Amino acid sequence: MSSTSTTAPTASYPDTRLLIDNEWQDAQSGRRIDVVNPATGAAMAQVAHAGRVDLDRALAAAQRGFEAWRNTPAHERAQTMRRAAALVRARADAIAQLLTQEQGKPIAEARGEVLAGADILDWFADEGLRVYGRIVPPRRLDVQQLVLKEPVGPVAAFTPWNFPVNQIVRKLGAALATGCSFLVKAPEETPAAPAALLQAFVDAGVPAGTVGLVFGDPAEISSYLIAHPVIRKITFTGSTAVGKQLAALAGQHMKRSTMELGGHAPVIVAEDADVAAAIKAMAGAKFRNAGQVCISPTRFLVHNSVRQAFTDGMVRYAEQLKVGNGLDAATRMGPLANPRRLTALAEVLQDAKAKGAEVLTGGERIGSAGNFFAPTILAGVPLDASVFNNEPFGPVAAIRGFDTLDEALAEANRLPYGLASYAFTQSIKTAQQLAQRLDVGMLWVNQGPAASAEMPFGGVKDSGYGSEGGPEALESYLVTKSVSILSL
Ligand code: NAD
Repeated sequence: MSSTSTTAPTASYPDTRLLIDNEWQDAQSGRRIDVVNPATGAAMAQVAHAGRVDLDRALAAAQRGFEAWRNTPAHERAQTMRRAAALVRARADAIAQLLTQEQGKPIAEARGEVLAGADILDWFADEGLRVYGRIVPPRRLDVQQLVLKEPVGPVAAFTPWNFPVNQIVRKLGAALATGCSFLVKAPEETPAAPAALLQAFVDAGVPAGTVGLVFGDPAEISSYLIAHPVIRKITFTGSTAVGKQLAALAGQHMKRSTMELGGHAPVIVAEDADVAAAIKAMAGAKFRNAGQVCISPTRFLVHNSVRQAFTDGMVRYAEQLKVGNGLDAATRMGPLANPRRLTALAEVLQDAKAKGAEVLTGGERIGSAGNFFAPTILAGVPLDASVFNNEPFGPVAAIRGFDTLDEALAEANRLPYGLASYAFTQSIKTAQQLAQRLDVGMLWVNQGPAASAEMPFGGVKDSGYGSEGGPEALESYLVTKSVSILSL
């Protein structure tokens, strides 16, 4: 069985305030929200709860920040971003400690998230130097035709608790690289690591108002910011249900938007797969961040000739996984980030069992303090089980067998989601077929997720639109101006 650690490691964890005009401030009302450690269930600190007055000040700062930042030469912007990335890297250990305490993930994963964040920022800093316009051949020689790419304006971002640093980094990187200012409502449940990230930008010398950070009531803040004339673009990562509401609001106010929403990633393990490699890659990906990852593998479709071997390997991996407080260096999987996930997973398991799935290992909460849930493998999962239809967002692998690739493809494409997908095969023909026929934004063949900054990151269908990687990530922060100059 997987085990929980008995030690209760601790580290310091600060209160978090709002960042407005490069200064940390309490909400004018003095309101605050408790921040709870998911490994213990104890309140550790508080975060400021912004009201309308605070948001108005943050918006005014974002407008001033935009004027200053867009008028900063691209090379200087890149240098400032690189300085911030270097500070994030230098502070990685301290930021990771905050992140683990507020979110739960093992300290090594937290450190990896922060260091990956610094790399992503470096990439965006450089990519900002390559935002080119065009010179278009004119129809008359005394005319010059120019296509200019300009920053869209102040951006409002809404980010979730599963990657408190990196969910911000991809949006912040693209916004700042293109000359936009950036106001983020980060998660109230995980506020201190985001604050440390933005502190690095203040220390790196961004003009006041270029970056801002607020917390409070998510729906109140998003409805106010999206409708506000200062904000020209919104970007959201979270559930499809909330994303649809925010996209509708953005449409109503004619605001550009990027939506990185839920997924339900199929994993197709073909009959010619290297099963050991598939187990290694997929078990690692499945239990990373306790499965609370939008690109987490969730629907395991395994050819019947290798199904038993694959399932046995997944069970072995799950049973040796050490579950515990993320600050303990021996921990490989931490608690779920909040009690809502415990409730959701209990429902998922009850439904799966009632519909005839077999729980091969796990399937229940561990202990009563903190949000620990056992790594879980389900076999023989029927298609109508909730776990095969709704993103489980937890450490649950649901496995089904298949006989033909067409059958696997039909199941993979059945849901309204289309974010990540995975396939394991040694046949180039199968890999090509899957690449062409899977309705997804991302496919990894014979490997776990390797989401690099230079590759597009995003979904299709109900998983949203827009990209958070590659040159595509910058496009949605730019507007195009067409200029024709006649020389007299
Ligand atoms: P949720 O759907 O209420 O919230 C998801 C995120 O959106 C949170 O960060 C929340 O603060 C924010 N949010 C909620 N309502 C908002 C609003 N009106 N305006 C702005 N932001 C708002 O639920 P939850 O319990 O936090 O998470 C549940 C589900 O969300 C998960 O099961 C998963 O499907 C999805 N989720 C996805 C990601 C991702 O990376 N795509 C991350 C976190 C959660």
